[in-house]
Amino acid sequence: MQQGESSCGIVNSAEVVRRWSALIAAPRTEKKQSSAPSAGSDWWRNRRKLRGKKRKLHQRRLESVEAEAPTVEEAEPPEPLPEGALLFQRRYEIVSFVSTHDGLNEYEAMETEPRKRCPVCQTLNTADSNYCEQCGHDLADADLETLKVRLLEAKSS
Ligand SMILES: [Zn+2]
Repeated sequence: MQQGESSCGIVNSAEVVRRWSALIAAPRTEKKQSSAPSAGSDWWRNRRKLRGKKRKLHQRRLESVEAEAPTVEEAEPPEPLPEGALLFQRRYEIVSFVSTHDGLNEYEAMETEPRKRCPVCQTLNTADSNYCEQCGHDLADADLETLKVRLLEAKSS
């Protein structure tokens, strides 16, 4: 008799990383912004791009649902990951579990590497940049920012 068998088990971290099917980032920074970024800035461009990704993910899921006609069990999200879990080659660290919806686990996470925001054009450069990759401005006085992102986790099929 197998008493302990269950349809959802704990998986090891290597499996967890593979299960991550999508990344959705909502750019938010620790810094309080006194004014909204101007239209046409990289911030808005990135945001639109990310929203496009989110839509695509949603469409893909709907297609797969129709094609496979999954059972109720298959729509269950995986076990939530613990705080501090590192994902995507340690690029993101989970801060907290937010919620489960539509068969997805949603988390708040942070990039593990800070970035330098250009004071002129607002482009986010890598922390070791000395000059803005977009406009060439000297980044000696630029602030370091750590981006917060939202991550969605779906069960792999
Ligand atoms: Zn710049």
